[in-house]
Amino acid sequence: MSENVIWHRHAVTQKIRARRKSQRPLVIWFTGLSASGKSTIAGALEQILTQQGYHTYLLDGDNLRHGLCRDLGFSDADRKENIRRVGEIARLMSDAGLITLAAFISPFRDDRRIVRDILPAGEFIEVFVDTPLDVCRERDPKGLYAKAERGEITKFTGIDSPYEAPQNPELHLDSARLSVAQAVNQLLAYLGESGVLQAGYRPLVA
Ligand code: ADP
Repeated sequence: MSENVIWHRHAVTQKIRARRKSQRPLVIWFTGLSASGKSTIAGALEQILTQQGYHTYLLDGDNLRHGLCRDLGFSDADRKENIRRVGEIARLMSDAGLITLAAFISPFRDDRRIVRDILPAGEFIEVFVDTPLDVCRERDPKGLYAKAERGEITKFTGIDSPYEAPQNPELHLDSARLSVAQAVNQLLAYLGESGVLQAGYRPLVA
């Protein structure tokens, strides 16, 4: 970056935007294997938050690869760049005052830490959607594991590309044992306890 590019401080700040929305901005980052349930759980949580009047946005890995990240593949370098871009977008959304949900395999610990570090302290909630590989393989909603096993896709996380599980996530969802509703309730309880949500949310019926 050129030394002649100087940050411009604007009068309308994150605090002002968030106050207009009566909420605390936050990035809820879902990480886990493909088919672990990141998009499904994030989508269900977003629906509840929206119904309760919160302003949200869901960044979904597959969807962003159709646009912003369409030039990127699945090499380690491209995965890193993918998460860097998404992290910057999440930061902007948070700055806009939104509660952002991000569903990305994001297999590398360092890349997730970089996103955590560009956000103000306490604004990054790492949610490990911990579904074992054999369950993900069995679900295979998009047929991607079958393709990877036939060698039609390479560099597939869990097959021939590594997944580095979080060591200290804010929330660990044992999603092979939980229904989607139970996973969402666990998230709502966590968000309630940490003071992000106002009191009085109604849990989903499990
Ligand atoms: P990811 O975003 O992690 O790739 P998806 O949410 O796209 O995963 O797919 C997960 C699949 O598993 C969906 O078809 C979903 O309906 C199914 N599924 C079954 N049980 C669960 C559960 N307990 N939690 C989340 N998803 C589940």
